[in-house]
Amino acid sequence: DVPDIATPMRTQAIMNSFGINTKKSLGQNFLTDINILKNIVAAGDVKDTDNVIEIGPGIGALTEQLARSAKEVLAFEIDDRLIPVLDHTMAPYDNVTIVNQDILKVDLESEIKTHFSNPDAPLKLVANLPYYITTPILMQVLQSDVKFDNIVVMMQKEVASRLSAEVGTKDYGSLTLAVQYRMNATLAFTVSRTAFVPNPNVDSAIISLTPREPLAVLPHNEQQLFNLFKVGFTMRRKTLWNNLITAFGKDDDMKEKLTAALEDAAIEPRIRAEKLSLEDFITLHNALVKSGV
Ligand code: SAM
Repeated sequence: DVPDIATPMRTQAIMNSFGINTKKSLGQNFLTDINILKNIVAAGDVKDTDNVIEIGPGIGALTEQLARSAKEVLAFEIDDRLIPVLDHTMAPYDNVTIVNQDILKVDLESEIKTHFSNPDAPLKLVANLPYYITTPILMQVLQSDVKFDNIVVMMQKEVASRLSAEVGTKDYGSLTLAVQYRMNATLAFTVSRTAFVPNPNVDSAIISLTPREPLAVLPHNEQQLFNLFKVGFTMRRKTLWNNLITAFGKDDDMKEKLTAALEDAAIEPRIRAEKLSLEDFITLHNALVKSGV
């Protein structure tokens, strides 16, 4: 039996033997609590028929637990210094592939086809995310054509609240909508900062995302819909109308088209975007397309 990586002592010993320190700029806070790792894998319901993608394996604490449960694990790590460490810590597992790349520059679809022996197996994403890029990573994942059977990710608590926020609340925004468009979000559990080496200065939460039921109305264009989420919340305290003319143009012709679209969608221009549900946004987007914006 291979001993777990995730203890404070073993983590330190591995770091020392490779002569490396964690880099704050890369969001390197390594989990050293084996129970939390096991709970993350359980939240992902990882089975031996699943392909699993991990973002930021670090020295392999979570990767190892995933390798023991999954069919295959594909992990993307940006930090070159960690590659020899992972070669060493993952040596006992023949179902792990490490790719030394920035996740934000990766084409997930082609990586999946290249690295998994059965690219059509159920696909899960399980990761303790680098917190400085949580939102860009989630947006990339949610906007890609890759369909995950579930996503279980750790992030800072404040961002986690935005993922599962209710319409009209202060946490509700473009990230909430991007998530809701594809997934149902639930908070799995929270994690104290003491579970990491070094301790981050925020508490963390595990969010579980599962594919949502099909939408009643579909958008004409997904990219434009995602852009409209952002436009709506450009200035949170401003009206929808103000954010729309700032984004699309203030000339008379544009104002006419915007007015027509809002009327068509039965949305009051003076409302704030935080009052609009996902369905409202889709209706508005379709009306904007129809009126030629
Ligand atoms: N999975 C390990 C754990 O749970 O202990 C480490 C998690 S640590 C919070 C985040 C990891 O993401 C670090 O290993 C860091 O080097 C890596 N990382 C940071 N930016 C990245 C990027 N753009 N692409 C891929 N990995 C990145």
